Amino acid sequence: MQVGLEKIVVLGSGGTIAGTAASATDSRDYRAAQKPVVDLLAGLPVPAGCELLSEQVAQIDSKDMDLAVWQKLLQRCLHWLAQPGVRGLVITHGTDTLEETAYLLQTVLAPRKPVVLTCAMRPATALDADGPQNLLDALAVAACEGAQGVVAVSAGRILGPQDVQKVHSWRLDAFSAGEAGDIGRVRHGRIERWRDWPQPVVPQETLLEALLSAVALPRVEIVLSHAAACAATVDALADPAVAERYGAPPLQGLVLAGTGGGTVHRELEAALRRAQAAGVRVLRSTRCADGMLQSRPGDEFPVAPGLSPVKARLALMLELLAP
Ligand code: ASP
Repeated sequence: MQVGLEKIVVLGSGGTIAGTAASATDSRDYRAAQKPVVDLLAGLPVPAGCELLSEQVAQIDSKDMDLAVWQKLLQRCLHWLAQPGVRGLVITHGTDTLEETAYLLQTVLAPRKPVVLTCAMRPATALDADGPQNLLDALAVAACEGAQGVVAVSAGRILGPQDVQKVHSWRLDAFSAGEAGDIGRVRHGRIERWRDWPQPVVPQETLLEALLSAVALPRVEIVLSHAAACAATVDALADPAVAERYGAPPLQGLVLAGTGGGTVHRELEAALRRAQAAGVRVLRSTRCADGMLQSRPGDEFPVAPGLSPVKARLALMLELLAP
């Protein structure tokens, strides 16, 4: 460690960015989360005035993200963000649930320093791997004067935690911030910004404590409304006897991924009403990728304003967890 240099701490959590395949031309049959984060950084230039530290927090395919890994990530973020010599954090993450982790970290930590999630669509062994450039761009954002809050950096784009969504299953530019638009971009190591960085709100200390000590997250499921929908799905989810049979905790919340403006098939509507009457919290979102919902007076099922179904689910889980 050199005196006078600010630290950027890179936390590894796995994903395709750390994935390996048998052949350098194979970007399909690979295993995610194989290479240690320290190897991903080897040979990368370090932003001026900074030094890099790294820590392997987890090594998972982010499709399998769970409470234990989130708790560990939160703890390590808290630890490093509190160090005066740390300028910012970078988290290497799988693309599949990156948007959920981004939303969670921003909601709970709302940091004054930058916490930059980055990823890749091709494994680290690929001839044309996108991970190194994404990581380099993420380091530039973490080192950027004035940067703050949790953001995602991928394919040269900087996206906010509320808006970022994976919208493509194989393209390198796989994320969108929808109508809200990107925060900015990274070009040749320089940041061009069009929107504000995520704002540091009051840290949610009691929520954070509850989350860190939780043994499980409140059970909240997502129900998609579609043509020819069947009420049995919702009734089965809300049935305590079914939960007991599977050793699952009783259902506490349901997020509706509704059609268009958050509408719901009449079959499901009746079942959602039954669930709500039985004490299950119902929150409405839309299955449309853009045009997020606004609440209206007298909404029977409250709306999760501006949130996709997966983020609405997280918001409801955090609300149910809050003491
Ligand atoms: N399944 C991988 C993950 O989310 C996909 C990726 O990283 O692109 O960890």
